[in-house]
Amino acid sequence: LSTMEDSSSKPAKKKVVAVVGGGLVGALNACFFAKRGFDVEVFETREDIRTAKIVKGRSINLALSHRGRSALKHVGMEEKIVSQGIPMHARMIHSLTGKQSPIPYGKKGQYILSVDRANLNKELLSAAETYPNTKLNFDHKLQDWNAETGIMTFVRSDGTKANIEADLIVGCDGAFSAIRKQFLRRSRFNYSQTYIPHGYMELTMPPINGEFAMKPNYLHIWPRNKFMMIALPNLDKTFTCTLFMPFEEFEKITTGDEVITFFQTYFPDAIPLIGVDALKRDYFRLPAQAMVSVKCSPYHIGDKCVLMGDAAHAVVPFYGQGMNAGFEDCIVFDEVMNQFNEDLSAVLPEYTRVRVPDDHAIADLAMYNYVEMRAHVNSKWFLFRKHVDNI
Ligand code: FAD
Repeated sequence: LSTMEDSSSKPAKKKVVAVVGGGLVGALNACFFAKRGFDVEVFETREDIRTAKIVKGRSINLALSHRGRSALKHVGMEEKIVSQGIPMHARMIHSLTGKQSPIPYGKKGQYILSVDRANLNKELLSAAETYPNTKLNFDHKLQDWNAETGIMTFVRSDGTKANIEADLIVGCDGAFSAIRKQFLRRSRFNYSQTYIPHGYMELTMPPINGEFAMKPNYLHIWPRNKFMMIALPNLDKTFTCTLFMPFEEFEKITTGDEVITFFQTYFPDAIPLIGVDALKRDYFRLPAQAMVSVKCSPYHIGDKCVLMGDAAHAVVPFYGQGMNAGFEDCIVFDEVMNQFNEDLSAVLPEYTRVRVPDDHAIADLAMYNYVEMRAHVNSKWFLFRKHVDNI
C-alpha cells in the first residue's frame, strides 16, 4: 500500500489488500487475507473500539451459528469465541399468560450461541493485528474512491485527507457502504433497498439475586403477530431484550405510563423482570432503529474491488444470519482464491457467480422469518410440527 506521493518509488512485492470497514466481517476478512500472505491494511471510520469509552454499534449481542463458526475456525478463532458465548438450544415462546414453551432449533445437542458484538469485534481486530503483514488504520473514513484507478480518499476526524491505492479493495463497510456508491454509477449493476415498517429497540433485563432472570440457554420470544420481543442472554447474566414493532406503534407510546400499559397488555411477564422504572426510562432513551434489506449484483468491479458482508447483502435480522452469512462470504472467497490460484481477474467474477444466489436466498429467508417469528410460531400447528420434528 502506498500513499500517492511515494507510490512510484515503492517496489511492488506482495499484493496489497485494502479492507474498508473494520466491523465484524472486515476484521475477520483481514485475518483471511493476512493468512494468505498479502499486505493487509484495514481502514475503519471509528476510533479503536478496544480503547474507546463509548462503542456505538448495531445490536448488543447476536446469534452465532454454524456458518459463522466455520469461518472463525479457518482463522483459528472458533474455540475462543465459542468459549465466550452462551449456547441457546431452543426458542422459548412466552404466551400472553406467561406460559413458556420451548421449540428446539435442531436435534438434541445442537445450538446457536449468543455472543457479545463489541467483544467479538475486538477479538477479531486483535486477531488481525497478530499478523505482522496487517495494519489497522482507525479514524479513516472512506470518502470516495475511483473505480478506474483504485485510488481511495480517506478523511480523518481532524479534517486531514489521505489518498491511498491498493491492488484489491474489499468493501466491508456495512449496509450503507461508501465503496458500493461507485458500483451504483456503473451500467448493469442491479441494486434494491427495502426498509421494513418495523423498527427495533433494545432494553436490558438485569440479573435477579445475581442470577439470570429467565432460563439462560434459550432465545426467548414473545410473538404477538404484528410485533414481537426477543431476549438473548449475556455473560454478565443480563438479557438484552429487543422489541420489534412498526414505527407507528412505537410513536403512539409517549409517556412512561403508556409504556407500562402496553407491556401489561402484551408482555406482562416481562414487566417485573425488566422493572417498571427501567421500562419507563429506557423506552425513551434512544429512538427505535430502522432495518434495511439490500440486494445487489455483481459483487465486484474488474479485478479491483469486491463487496462482502452487509455492504453486499444487508438482511433483516429475523433469521439471525447477517453476520453469519458475511463470515461465510470470507470462506467462499478463500475457496475461490484457492481454485484460481489467487488470479484476481478470475477470482472476482467467480465469487460473484457463486455467492450472489446464496446471499439473495439468505435475504429472502430473513424476510420470510420476519413473519415466522412474530406470527407463525404462535400457531398450534407450528408447535405440533416442531414437536414431531424433534422426536
Ligand atoms: P458492520 O457490522 O456494519 O460493520 C461495518 C464497519 O464499517 C463499521 O465498523 C463501520 O464503522 C465501518 N464503516 C462504515 N462506513 C465506513 C467508511 N466510509 N469508511 C471506513 N469504515 C466505514 N447477524 C447474525 O448473524 N446474527 C444475529 O443474531 C444478528 N442480529 C442482529 C440484530 C440486529 C438488531 C441487527 C440490526 C443486525 C443483526 N445481525 C445479526 C446482522 C449483523 O449485525 C450484520 O450482518 C453484521 O454486523 C455485518 O457485519 P459487517 O462487518 O458487514 O458490517
